[in-house]
Amino acid sequence: MTSCGGTGHLSTRVRENCNSEEPNRSLAEFADPAPLQPDYFGALQGLADCTPTAEQRKGMLMTKLDHVIEELVTGNRILAREGVVDSFGHISVRHPDNPQRYLLSRSRAPDCIEASDIMEFTLDGMPVDGGGRPPYLERFIHGALYEARPDVMSVVHNHSESVIPFGVTDRAIKPIFHMGASIGHEVPVWDSHDHFGDTALLVENMEMGRDLAKLIGAGATALMRGHGATVAAKSIRQAVYVSIYLEVNARLQKQAMDMGEVKFLTRGEIDKVAERTGPYGINRAWENWCRRAGRPFQAEL
Ligand SMILES: [Zn+2]
Repeated sequence: MTSCGGTGHLSTRVRENCNSEEPNRSLAEFADPAPLQPDYFGALQGLADCTPTAEQRKGMLMTKLDHVIEELVTGNRILAREGVVDSFGHISVRHPDNPQRYLLSRSRAPDCIEASDIMEFTLDGMPVDGGGRPPYLERFIHGALYEARPDVMSVVHNHSESVIPFGVTDRAIKPIFHMGASIGHEVPVWDSHDHFGDTALLVENMEMGRDLAKLIGAGATALMRGHGATVAAKSIRQAVYVSIYLEVNARLQKQAMDMGEVKFLTRGEIDKVAERTGPYGINRAWENWCRRAGRPFQAEL
């Protein structure tokens, strides 16, 4: 019989933190003798014979939100560690309890971000209890995609170096190797000049954000002429995965083009790789990236 023990045993346990000061510790040291709890709601069902108090219910929600915020911090650190973002660029997640809100850091370099930096926004980019913290100017990219795409749970915007040349030339970026298939069949290029003329190239209002979201459509990503790229995905892990392999694909494609004519993946090959790309592969990459970024590898909710 399951006992009522407050909310502590409902917390999603994490493997021991990869201490950033000890980046080379063996993975064996992270082994947990007890099984990880992969299913938060399964844990809730185990308490069917207990009626949580109002305070316990609040604690459960906080646990879920805290878990997502930790995952978002990890996403920021990984993108920085893997060279997708530098001092600029950002990743957001749709609020787990309110689809009309999203979570995004205050204006800060991704490698510096802590849980206390994460702010909540309405879809039109207004901070909710921001406490005077300055938000990113380009937060409208995120809200516009959540507004247009109910399936999107996480958005990355970056100025990933290797993709920039493909946004300013007539050479389209296309999957060149199997890991690159996650970028999709076509990667369109959004040119802010088409509808907004001379600007600072930044997406600084909802009108520009919606124009970008419209071009991305149902796709995974778009390049932004003279600026960078944006990725829309079903989870933080998937958004990071696509962002990293967009950068890698761009780098390899440039190398291949320098050598001669390139044979890209066929549409059928891209579809078959997509069918095989699920949580198994993405989580395997995520665990490795967590370790490289000195962040804990959390069990998924
Ligand atoms: Zn930008």
